This record gives sequence, structure tokens and C-alpha cells, in this order.
Amino acid sequence: MLGGTRIRTPTKEPMRPDGPEWTPPPRDPAQPAQVRRILALFRPYRGRLATVGLLVAASSLVSVASPFLLRAVLDVAIPQGRTGLLTLLAAGMIVTAVLTSVFGVLQTLISTTVGQRVMHDLRTAVYAKLQRMPLAFFTRTRTGEVQSRIANDIGGMQATVTSTATSLVSNLTSVVATVVAMLALDWRLTLVSLLLLPLFVWISRRVGNERKRITTARQKQMAAMSAMVTESLSVSGILLGRTMGRADSLTANFATESERLVGLEVRANMAGRWRMATIGIVMAAMPAVIYWSAGLVLQLGGPAFSIGTLVAFVTLQQGLLRPTVSLLSTGVQMQTSVALFQRIFEYLDLPVTITEPAHPVRLAEPRGEVRFEHVTFAYDDPERADGAAPAPATLCDIDLDVPAGSSLAVVGPTGSGKSTLSYLVPRLYDVTDGRVTLDGTDVRDLDFDSLARAVGVVSQETYLFHASVADNLRFAKPDATDEEIERAARAAQIHDHIAGLPDGYDTLVGERGHRFSGGEKQRLAIARTILRDPPVLVLDEATSALDTRTEHAVQQAIDALSKGRTTITIAHRLSTVRDADQIVVLDAGRIAERGTHGELLAADGRYAALVKRDAHLAPNGDRPLSADLTHG
Ligand code: ADP
Repeated sequence: MLGGTRIRTPTKEPMRPDGPEWTPPPRDPAQPAQVRRILALFRPYRGRLATVGLLVAASSLVSVASPFLLRAVLDVAIPQGRTGLLTLLAAGMIVTAVLTSVFGVLQTLISTTVGQRVMHDLRTAVYAKLQRMPLAFFTRTRTGEVQSRIANDIGGMQATVTSTATSLVSNLTSVVATVVAMLALDWRLTLVSLLLLPLFVWISRRVGNERKRITTARQKQMAAMSAMVTESLSVSGILLGRTMGRADSLTANFATESERLVGLEVRANMAGRWRMATIGIVMAAMPAVIYWSAGLVLQLGGPAFSIGTLVAFVTLQQGLLRPTVSLLSTGVQMQTSVALFQRIFEYLDLPVTITEPAHPVRLAEPRGEVRFEHVTFAYDDPERADGAAPAPATLCDIDLDVPAGSSLAVVGPTGSGKSTLSYLVPRLYDVTDGRVTLDGTDVRDLDFDSLARAVGVVSQETYLFHASVADNLRFAKPDATDEEIERAARAAQIHDHIAGLPDGYDTLVGERGHRFSGGEKQRLAIARTILRDPPVLVLDEATSALDTRTEHAVQQAIDALSKGRTTITIAHRLSTVRDADQIVVLDAGRIAERGTHGELLAADGRYAALVKRDAHLAPNGDRPLSADLTHG
């Protein structure tokens, strides 16, 4: 074969996660622009977010009311034996608890809904964006990468976005409300307790940072160990280890790695313990400090605090600790969310290279005349460094005129550029130089819809969805009636087969449904295209050998399809080529010969040589072209 190892399906392309035109923006989660962009996502829901804010504020206010009730109980109701007031105050404390919970539930409901809505908007935006990406993007991107962005990145954000946003708001409100309440109770005590707060914040931060560091090291160590296990405990690994007599030293290596993990695990766990212990100590210490300073103030001749004020104050202060700790960890969580958002934004910012012009031309009734004018095309090579010589052209100065309703057969060795030529008409790729026109209009000036309606593509690989046969056909024309579908299937010579299936047109296709053979799939693809009824057809004939009957059916289907249409066929069958109005022999991206069957035979060049060889092999002339016209 001339083309060497040949890549036909885009998925077999050299893998690269990202496009060449696209260099990822520098990752700085703190970028204000990024934060603004994230906030913009929430803009449509500001009404609901305002409600959340109100609920949060209300529940914070209600919850800080409770210590004041407590003070009244201790200072007034109990000492003065006022039973009525006592009942009222106690009831007030219960109502406070109930209200706080109800507000909390409502707030969670609304904020979760908003979070999910934002996720939905993002998912849909990414999907829509990917739908608009050129084919080239998918040939370069690892298949799993796209799914992972949609599933893992956006999925991973769900939890953080909803919880981070709400916990930020609620904790901040709690802290502010509590501090205000504390000030209202007694500003001097507030000063004392707030003096301690920074110390606590500092300790908790340090512990948190250390824990993060250890966790990262532990994750790395665990990954290293599991890589070691996969490598050395596979069949080939064992084989190598045994035959090289290295089993013992591998075990020793493993032991060393495992030992390292022991230390890390202990430290990771201990970092957590210390943090808990710190929280416990501070929580226990704070009231002590308050009581102590209250007593000291009194002894030094300062003002006396009522018991109620002291107890209420300590209660408030205890309530201050939890939101403060949360607020601290929210900071870290926010950074993680911003980083995740950034990954999604990277996708949303991918440049779309194949676009509609600002004022596209509509073709109401396309006739179907296709022309290639000095077309040159080169695939971008993402690996190619900037400034390196441009990629060698896959197609070079191609000039072709396919009048409306006529047929063109393209033949040539593997890798000569036949498929590439066919990609340029439906704009799966855009020309590098020159232009491809439809009815005299550059295809790049047409609107996508006109182009899609004008050009039908039947490729070798037919994609069937996991849905019924009818739905698969209807994908081509959603409003097709059952009669239309059946008529198309009949024309494509596949109706009888479908009718013979257990559920006829309702039979499920795919994984757990009915599996179609290559020839049947191709006829389904033809039926789809018949439904669309485009004036221009781009056909890639199957290379795989079909049995004679199937071959005949497929041929009939293709004949039915091509009648009256402009057809550009990547031909592998002599019969197709022989009957074509025009034959082009491609070689290394250039037109080597062109003419009709008769003319090319008379010219006695490469085409003639091939036909002679094939005619000898297959006198009926309806066989695949041997070795696809190679070795010319
Ligand atoms: P044919 O259909 O005649 O066998 P193709 O059009 O598929 O030839 O390929 C022409 C040349 O372009 C080959 O050298 C092939 O390796 C290269 N090629 C095809 N697709 C791509 C791609 N997506 N990226 C880079 N090179 C490609």
C-alpha cells in the first residue's frame, strides 16, 4: 500500500487531549475575571438567591435571639418567680429552634435547586459547544476526555457549588449576627473572646494546611504503590520478574514503599486528631476564660455581670466556633470550585474554526453543481511546533467540476486523499486554499442548514443509535410519516429485512437490540439519505467484501439513491466507476488522470492497467477493484 499505515476513522488518530489552536489559559483560580464569570452564571437566579439570603438572615437572627431569652430566664423569670414569663420565654426558645430548622430546610431546598440549575446550564452549554466543534477536534481528543469533562468536572462541581455557596452565606451571616448579639450583650466580654479568636483561627489553619500536605503525599504514595502492583503483578510482570530472578528484590521494593505509607497514614490521621483536640480545648477554654475575666473585672472593682448575661454570652460564643471553622474550610473549597469551573470554561472557550459567516447565503432550491477550484488542503498537525514548515498538503491544487445531476467517481491508492476530498463538500473540514462551491457559492458562505440539506453523506461506517429502527431512520427527517419511512426503506432494499424482524420497524437497534450486518447498515444509511433527499450525494463505497446477494442489494439501493442527484463516490467497485460520467484518479493528493471510462481506457494509463487486471479477475465487472487501484 502506498499510504503506509492508514488512518481512516478519526478515533484512531494520534491521541492528544486538547486542540492545537488552543493553549489553555493560565490557571489562576483567584482571577477576578473568573470569579465574575462564575457569578454571572448565577445572575438568572438572583431572585431565588435573594430569598436564600433573606432566609439565612432570618434564621441567624432567630437563632441569636435564643441567648437573650436565656438571659431573661436566668436573670428575671427564675429569680423573680414569674411563672407566666418563664413559660413564655421557654416557649419562645422552642419556637426559635423550630423556626431555625424550618428556615434551614427551605434554604437548602432553594439553594440546591439553584445549584442544580446552574449545573444544568453549564452541562447544556458544554454539550452545545461540543456539537459545534469541528470534526478535527474529535479526531484529536481522547474519547474519554470529553465524557469526563461533562460527567466528572461538572458532576464534581455540583456538591461544592451548592454547599459552598450556601455555607459561605449562612456561616458569614451566623458569624456577623452572633458577634452583633455578643456586642449587644456586653462589648467588653466580646472584646475578650474575640481576642482569642485569631489564635484559634491560626491553629486551625495550620493544622488544616498540614493535613492537606500530608493527604497529597499520601495520595501520591498510594498511586505509586498501586502502579507498582499493576506493573509487577501482571502476567508479563510476573514473567519478567521470575525469569530475571528479581522476585525477591521486587518484594523488597514493595516493602519499602509500603513502609513509607505507614508513616504518612499515621501522620495524616494524627493531624486530624490534633485538630479535633485543638477545637475541643479551645471550646472548653473559652467559657473558662470568659468566667475568669468576668470575675477578675468584678474583683478589680469593675462592673458586675449578671449570671444570665454570662451564660447567654458563653452560649453565643460556643455558637461562634462552628461557623468560623466552616468559613475557614469554605475558603479552600471555593478555590477547588473555581479550579473546576475553570476547566469547564476552557471547553466553553474553545475556538470554533468552522463557522457560519455573519450573513450566510441561503440556497432555497439547490441544483447541486459542485466545483473544486484550485483546492489545497493540509491537516493541521497539533504536534508541529510553531514556526516549523507547514504541514505537507494532503490535497494539492484540485480542480474539478461536477455538473448538477452528474456523477464523479474518485479512485486512487489508499492515502491518496479520496476521503479528505469528500470531507470538504459538507465542510467537515475547510479548505486550506482555493474553494469548494455549490451552485457557484463558496460552501463557507452558505448557512449550515442549506448546506446540510443540500449535501448528503453516506460513509462506510454507519452509526446507529440505541433506539428503534424507525427512530434511527427518522433521525434524518424527524417529521417523516410511517409511509415515507417505509418507502425509503423499500428503495434502499432493506424493507423486507426490517419487516422480517420480530418487532418490524419498532425493533431496537444496538447493544442489546438487533445487530445489523455491514451491508444492512449501509442500506439503512442509504434509506436515511433517501429520506433527506439531498441534491448532492457524497458516497464512500464499502471496501469490505459483501456476498453477491447483499452486494447486489446495496448496489440497487445506491442506484435508487443516486438517480437524478450529483454524486461524488469514493469508488471501490468497477461497475460504479465504469458508469460514472467522470472518473478521477488521485495520487498523493493530485489528480493523476481524469476522463470517462472509455477515454481512460483509450489513454491506456494507470486506470486502464487496473481495469484490465480486474476484468481478467472478474469478467462480470461487478467486483471490488483489486487492491484499490494501488501500486500504480
Ligand atoms: P484515502 O481516502 O484516499 O485513503 P485519506 O483522505 O483518508 O485517503 O488520507 C489522505 C492522507 O491524509 C493520508 O496520508 C492520511 O494519513 C492523512 N490523514 C487522513 N486523515 C487525517 C487527519 N485527521 N489528520 C491528519 N492526517 C490525516
